Amino acid sequence: MGFKSNARKRRKATTVSSGKIEAEKKEYIGELRCDVANCDNWADKKVGGRKKAYDWALDVWGDSGLSSDSRRVALCKSCYKIGKKHKKDEPDSWS
Ligand SMILES: [Zn+2]
Repeated sequence: MGFKSNARKRRKATTVSSGKIEAEKKEYIGELRCDVANCDNWADKKVGGRKKAYDWALDVWGDSGLSSDSRRVALCKSCYKIGKKHKKDEPDSWS
């Protein structure tokens, strides 16, 4: 009986030490930066980012408010929310 419980203990310890370190997840490193000037959030899909047409974003932030001039701008979650709010009263040209 003493042997059994000992073995179980040992197995548990091994699992913990070989497991990945949780701290790795803490700081998210994305691939895509938000294209809104002076915003440096991540715009990856994983963290709620969106891609919108340049014109869509231009209407919200203006030319100087965007750090990208590609046809698709990447927006972080919170900037996308701002944009959506801004557009609320306008008819949706996409539908
Ligand atoms: Zn942003």
